[in-house]
Amino acid sequence: MNFDTIISGGTVIDGTGSPGIKADVGISGKEIAAVGNLSESTADQVIDAEGLTVTPGFIDVHSHADGALLLDGQHASGIRQGVTTEIVCPDGLSYAPLSHDDYLMYRKYLSGILGFPPEDLDMSSIDAFLGNYHQKTACNVATFVGHGPIRISAVGMKDVPLRGADMDRAKGMLREGLEQGGRGFSTGMSYYPNAYSDTDELVELCEVAAEFGLPYSTHLRNHNPERGFGGGGVAEALEIGRRSGVPVHLEHYRTAGDQIGDISTIMDPVDEAKANGVDVSLECYVYPVGSSFPHTFIPGWVHEGGSDDMMERLRDIETRKGLIKFLQDTPITPMGGNMFTAISEGPNTDLVGMTFEDAAAEKGTTVEELVMELMVEEEMGIGFRGIPPTSVKIWRQHEEDVMTLLDRPDYMIGSDSIPVAPPLVGIVHPRAYGCFARFIGRLRRRFNKPLEQVIQRVTQNPAERFKIDKRGVIAKGNYADLVIFNADTVNDQSGFEDPAVHPSGIPHVFVNGQQVVKNERVTGVMAGEAVR
Ligand SMILES: [Zn+2]
Repeated sequence: MNFDTIISGGTVIDGTGSPGIKADVGISGKEIAAVGNLSESTADQVIDAEGLTVTPGFIDVHSHADGALLLDGQHASGIRQGVTTEIVCPDGLSYAPLSHDDYLMYRKYLSGILGFPPEDLDMSSIDAFLGNYHQKTACNVATFVGHGPIRISAVGMKDVPLRGADMDRAKGMLREGLEQGGRGFSTGMSYYPNAYSDTDELVELCEVAAEFGLPYSTHLRNHNPERGFGGGGVAEALEIGRRSGVPVHLEHYRTAGDQIGDISTIMDPVDEAKANGVDVSLECYVYPVGSSFPHTFIPGWVHEGGSDDMMERLRDIETRKGLIKFLQDTPITPMGGNMFTAISEGPNTDLVGMTFEDAAAEKGTTVEELVMELMVEEEMGIGFRGIPPTSVKIWRQHEEDVMTLLDRPDYMIGSDSIPVAPPLVGIVHPRAYGCFARFIGRLRRRFNKPLEQVIQRVTQNPAERFKIDKRGVIAKGNYADLVIFNADTVNDQSGFEDPAVHPSGIPHVFVNGQQVVKNERVTGVMAGEAVR
């Protein structure tokens, strides 16, 4: 038999958690056509994988590449790590379904995290949204249906509860989005308009996702905690699962701050809920600090009406003074301990890479004042990330915690990567270039985890949870999304100081049967498809 490609002589780890076997993999068209001894077959192309490991392509269940992929479909930062499917719109932050005017409003609002994708795109449905990526990117793109866009489309950027006819409209949009291929319902309770909701609203929306058996993927509430069952956080998410029957998926759920080294504190409530029948899965990235945009510090009333109204409030000196006093006296999350990662092209780009504290000192102002000032000057185009612990002991303990959590079969990896694309200027969080390679390479070897277990967490596990058919496992008839790497040497090269560096030890990546990385170089082939 003749194949398009044979990957010959590698150790095949199929993604199910079974140990590797020595086998050839034959690809015909988009599919895996055979796995076994293919020495009698021929192929147009043979990849010698002797000494290398062959696995399914990785699935990133938490990617903020929504905007960046529309500007640069090559997406080298993900594809060079072996990520063949990105699930975008985590935290309920994305562009669909939105009318054109609402898209332009929310595009500006989200620019500090998602950048500035083209204005002339159809975002009116999940179907149209996915069409913007289909065969225009190197990786496959799946999406959640986001709480933010649905709420904006139903009631605008307003602090009103979703009830009655508004709720019916929102539920209709969610149902339509899931019918068109959305892989779950996502929300982020540090972000607006999402955090205008209360638990009752979320339960009613989640009942729709439950009909599809698709997860409620949530970044836990810390804004408007009084509106959330049990004060928000994990208690609210688990209560939503209990009441609606929806499978719950906890985003970037890991130890932090005082909990580092104390896994049971964060896992006991989850295990108790699971024992009582709530279906829970979880994700984390393998770094001790996160990344976001300054909106997350700012209370709900400032966001009302959307980006232009918000800008007007921030421009008004008296309003801004009051807000700064609030941020200093009763912060929702303290602002200090962060650094600027992305700033729109303009007079402030020299602040990229500086800590908030150093930048404020240089300008002779306070951290809160500086960040609010920049929000105005940069028209919201600002991002930041945390600064890793100075204590190596704490950092190592955090890594041990994360790898212990990932021993659990209900865990998977979500990079939470936030790419930076022009006209944003910046320095990304290293997870954008290194998260998967760090997990399967450096940390897997340091903590001596079985390779087949580590691979299952980034392949079959997410594919099953988010119902991504025919991906995540190497089997005849599945899509040929494949990663070929050296298990002994694969490593992230992306650090906090110099993050935009590709990993080493991953020479070849295939998406839908086409080679998108060859000898550690991207090929330019846009083989990615919309996952519906
Ligand atoms: Zn996120």
